[in-house]
Amino acid sequence: MMGVATLEDVDRQIGNGFRLLRFTPTVEAAFLCDYAASRVRLAAIWALIGTLIYDMVFFGDATMMPDVFSELVAVRFGIFTPFALFSVLALRRWPTARNYDLLSIAVALLGVLLPMSVAVYSHSPYLFVYQNGNVAAFLFFVIALRPRFATIVLGLVLMCIVQFTTTKLNGSFDAVTYTGIVTFYVTLAIFLAMSAYFMEHKDRMNFLHQLRGGLLHAELERKSERDELTGLFNRHSLARNRDTIWCGGNAAASVAVIMLDIDRFKLFNDVHGHIDGDDCIRAVCRCILREVASAGETFRFGGEEILVLMANADRDAAQAMAERTRAAIESLGIQHRGLSDGHVVTASLGVAYGKTSEFSLEDLLKGADAALYDAKRNGRNTVSMFMAAMADRSGEAKGTMETALLTC
Ligand code: GH3
Ligand code: MG
Ligand code: MG
Repeated sequence: MMGVATLEDVDRQIGNGFRLLRFTPTVEAAFLCDYAASRVRLAAIWALIGTLIYDMVFFGDATMMPDVFSELVAVRFGIFTPFALFSVLALRRWPTARNYDLLSIAVALLGVLLPMSVAVYSHSPYLFVYQNGNVAAFLFFVIALRPRFATIVLGLVLMCIVQFTTTKLNGSFDAVTYTGIVTFYVTLAIFLAMSAYFMEHKDRMNFLHQLRGGLLHAELERKSERDELTGLFNRHSLARNRDTIWCGGNAAASVAVIMLDIDRFKLFNDVHGHIDGDDCIRAVCRCILREVASAGETFRFGGEEILVLMANADRDAAQAMAERTRAAIESLGIQHRGLSDGHVVTASLGVAYGKTSEFSLEDLLKGADAALYDAKRNGRNTVSMFMAAMADRSGEAKGTMETALLTC
């Protein structure tokens, strides 16, 4: 499978340039995806406009080419029009860059080949004016259909070959007129090919800048959600999580909140220094992430305070998770020289649990915080479940709140 382009890929591509109109594989894949989508979106409109104009030349056929009129009508309405419609349907079914290029070259080539191969048999004195009309097909191919540069070059060469062969085979042009026709179409093709090169180069540059903007935005968004030291979600991103847990189609029925605080960490910093303190916070956070895994989202709530939100977890599962995390941190065995011999870094945890229909995130945070305070008071390195700390919620009796939390 093709990888996803990164900001580094895009910056490198802008730095290296792309004179051959080709990016490195991952960026090229993204470009072709965008290219195919934008061209296919316009294909139906161009097919409609192009076919309408092409079919209206029917009047020109009647006035300028009366001797082969019926054949011209047959190729216009019997072959070209159905093919243009088929192309649109085929692109809807198989919307790839390569198919778009193939079909646009086929449409352009047929547009010139069909009437000109009929015109070979015409003795009309207006043939010179008639064949001039193919300029419109050249312009339509390069400016309206706008396939990739290589396709344009190939298409222009093939269209020129058709033009020169059929006008030659007709035999009614003298050498000077024929040379004039050849010179005119070669010049036209060269100018069109050159402008197609610059147009695609500009398209590609715009694409790179657009892709860069999108990637930069995604990176900024990711950074604004993450805490730099630990890589955990930061407190700022709590609001987004609250919205998904409390509102919308995927709202959870209940939530458990675990608030964790490293024990005697001020002392750890004083004794070991802040650098070791940072390492310690990182190690504890990695440990919490391992334990919580996919059971919840983990946030750095404050300095050495970590918050875990577990949507749809039941009360016992949350308590068991908190206990496992506490034990795992203790068994990391990080020495805490500020404490008496043999002591290691530990943490205290407070757990609150409630139905989202009855409690807000703020309620549960207050509950978990109160439980954490309890755990600290109980000697640290313990887990405490919230039972009563939300009792002072406006207008509700302490007993009611206890029951509500315990029974939901
Ligand atoms: P308690 O057991 O009651 O929690 O005691 P404590 O010393 O841990 O008290 P408290 O939680 O109030 O202390 C938090 C300390 O965490 C204070 C601050 O020096 C330290 N701290 C906060 N953020 C960081 C950080 O990013 N890096 C480091 N090294 N220390 C931090
Ligand atoms: Mg603290
Ligand atoms: Mg602490």
